[in-house]
Amino acid sequence: MNAFSYIHCHPEIVGRGPCASPPQKDQIVNNIIYMDNHATTPIAPEVLEAMIPYLTTHFGNASSTHSFGTTAKDAVDKARHQVADLLGCSVEEIVFTSGATESDNLAIRGIAYARRDNGNHIITNTAEHHAILDTCHALAAEGFETTYLPVDKYGMVSPDDVEAAITPKTVLMSFMYANNEVGTINPISDIATVAAKHGVLFHSDAVQGIGQLSSDMERLGVDLASLTAHKIYGPKGIGALYIRRNISPPHSLFHGGGQELGVRPGTLNVAGIVGLGAACELAKNYMEQGKNGVSALRDTLHQKLNVCLEDIHLNGHPEQRLPGNLNLCFASVQSHALLMGLKSVAISTGSACDSESVTASHVLVAMGVPNELALTAIRFGLGRYNTAEEVDIVADEVIRVVNRLRALAPE
Ligand SMILES: *Cc1c(COP(=O)(O)O)cnc(C)c1O
Repeated sequence: MNAFSYIHCHPEIVGRGPCASPPQKDQIVNNIIYMDNHATTPIAPEVLEAMIPYLTTHFGNASSTHSFGTTAKDAVDKARHQVADLLGCSVEEIVFTSGATESDNLAIRGIAYARRDNGNHIITNTAEHHAILDTCHALAAEGFETTYLPVDKYGMVSPDDVEAAITPKTVLMSFMYANNEVGTINPISDIATVAAKHGVLFHSDAVQGIGQLSSDMERLGVDLASLTAHKIYGPKGIGALYIRRNISPPHSLFHGGGQELGVRPGTLNVAGIVGLGAACELAKNYMEQGKNGVSALRDTLHQKLNVCLEDIHLNGHPEQRLPGNLNLCFASVQSHALLMGLKSVAISTGSACDSESVTASHVLVAMGVPNELALTAIRFGLGRYNTAEEVDIVADEVIRVVNRLRALAPE
């Protein structure tokens, strides 16, 4: 069946599809409330609607010169403008990738290789995502020098520590915009000032900050930044790397057809790129209203838990943190036991990638949280589609299950 007969059989997928109207209760699947928006977010209906034609009628290769190709290329151009608009940058500064893991690898490894003649030292910190930490470990095995700065008890990096770690051989530093586990926001512009003063390139894994916090790359002062669509209500498997215009670009990790200025060859994921563009435009329009609404819900949840439960500890910075993040330790309640007891809410212990392991989160360990307490940490990640009613349901259930578990195993 070709795309045309497919559409013929499924007329509802063209034009105003079933998803065009107000967001459905995307986050409720089998009556489970979704509060794990740092792991991934539901696709916004507007994003899905924008993508569908590029999975069906407009299936062309954006590099082809016939009309199928130019239709796809026009869509990619539009999406690149939407991304650039959110980042306050120009379209030449955006390279599409398969997501933030690839963007992080491309930035760190690509710059390390490109600047090898200038030095071999890279600075990062212990609370980064594994896409950064493991890339730096791999480079260390190839002979690069790596420094992992400590973070404070809130998970924050100190610009003074950054400055003190710079050596004549330092070519790159990488510090995340906001932490995906505890939500702490790093002082990115202050770090950028230090980097610029010493002529060191500055990459930021900005996945959790972009679309939620100020997303203007010029104002942040970074040279490279990673983002991914699925953390901002777009599809999985598509992201971008912002590369400031006047720096020499990272070496490509792939060889191929020369797409994306040769920095990231490979046939463009047109539908994904369209989805990323639509998600960026929505995020920009939604930012202020969304930020306040989500942080108010988050604070309500925290208050309700605080009033009814003793011995709960907030992880991360009390003010400088993501609007939807609430990372709490429930002393003497193992997080996996709590998770298993919760029937109506999808949340995480530590980071999503660690959900199978019972070792304490590396971020909490880096913050100096004692191991025993770290094993009781739960991450609530509220997002655009959560409601006050859901917060009530979740708070009641958490209180009930924590009390039950504590009664079962006192001390
Ligand atoms: C989710 C996430 C990533 C990985 O992004 P993918 O697109 O899933 O590869 C990297 N860094 C941070 C901070 C994240 O939250």
